[in-house]
Amino acid sequence: MDVILTGDRPTGRLHLGHYVGSLKRRVEMQNSGKYHNIYVMIADAQALTDNADDINKVRNNISEVALDYMACGLDPKKTTIFIQSQIPELCELSFYYMNLVTVSRLQRNPTVKNEIQLRGFKQSIPVGFFTYPISQASDITAFKANLIPVGEDQLPMIEQAREIVRSFNTLYKKVLVEPTAVLPENSYCSRLPGLDGAAKMSKSLGNCIYLADSANDIKKKVQSMFTDPTHLHVEDPGHIENNPVFTYLDAFCRDEHFQAFLPAYQNLDELKAHYQRGGLGDGTVKKFLNEILQNELKPIRERREELAKDIGEIFAQLKKGSENARKVAAQTLHEVKGAMGIDYFGDSSLL
Ligand code: ATP
Ligand code: MG
Repeated sequence: MDVILTGDRPTGRLHLGHYVGSLKRRVEMQNSGKYHNIYVMIADAQALTDNADDINKVRNNISEVALDYMACGLDPKKTTIFIQSQIPELCELSFYYMNLVTVSRLQRNPTVKNEIQLRGFKQSIPVGFFTYPISQASDITAFKANLIPVGEDQLPMIEQAREIVRSFNTLYKKVLVEPTAVLPENSYCSRLPGLDGAAKMSKSLGNCIYLADSANDIKKKVQSMFTDPTHLHVEDPGHIENNPVFTYLDAFCRDEHFQAFLPAYQNLDELKAHYQRGGLGDGTVKKFLNEILQNELKPIRERREELAKDIGEIFAQLKKGSENARKVAAQTLHEVKGAMGIDYFGDSSLL
């Protein structure tokens, strides 16, 4: 009985990195009908750990993220979509899990280290931000989720959650389930770089193509993408390594795209070989990438525009999802407190 949990921070609209890294997979998992339960969380409380001074950003992006989910095919009838802050049981779990983790263990988390640097926190790291891997363990364990579809940056979080589960189950009683990360099959998808090629595509870095971007914005962004800086003239040999245009092609391109948009080549290997040999301009490759992205994103954008006409309905679905999720988290918290022996009033051995 596999249970899935994933989520996103409502710090902006969702982008191509989310789509290939996690969202597409979630929709496939949902539609396969093979999973007992699927939970998708809008992680607003986690978003506040580095946006406490910008509540409106987080507030306003709740419905944006929900629209992105549903436009991509997540269906609230099949998937429990909920808002993290509406489940207070998650905070309680975190409070107990905090005792199972050392400060030095948190300091070693490579993703947190990297994010601290990217956000320029230096010594002023909010405590909530520093401890968010623990709160993520609460999110996962509250639903007894065993499969967590994520991008590569989340692997240290899942490892941290596994350690917490093992400590808890050993110290108290075996009530928690150890989660496993599920990475995209295509390794280019597990860490899609930004348009600048410098870091991963990330809402906080503003280097994204968003699922809701207009056709014109997508075109402009693709045209402005970083490529191989040594490929100055068409005839120069080009590099495909660390060239985000080719990474995006690796993530999105299928052979049939060549027949449809660039019939001079059979497949991506041929295109890459030509670029590496020299004689293929960046403009041609970008034009091809643009066609592929337009083709993939158009139906999503159109569904999104339809759904956006009734935001009341989106919030009604989120409310229902949050109520259902809360019941499950409350049951787990009850078991956790029982295992720890702190459910005093329901414990007959104390009377
Ligand atoms: P923020 O900058 O606010 O942290 P983000 O763009 O990193 O936002 P998250 O909400 O933190 O997005 O991540 C949600 C999920 O999407 C995670 O599973 C994460 O691994 C995945 N993800 C995020 N960015 C990428 C990316 N560039 N490539 C692949 N997966 C990604
Ligand atoms: Mg992130």
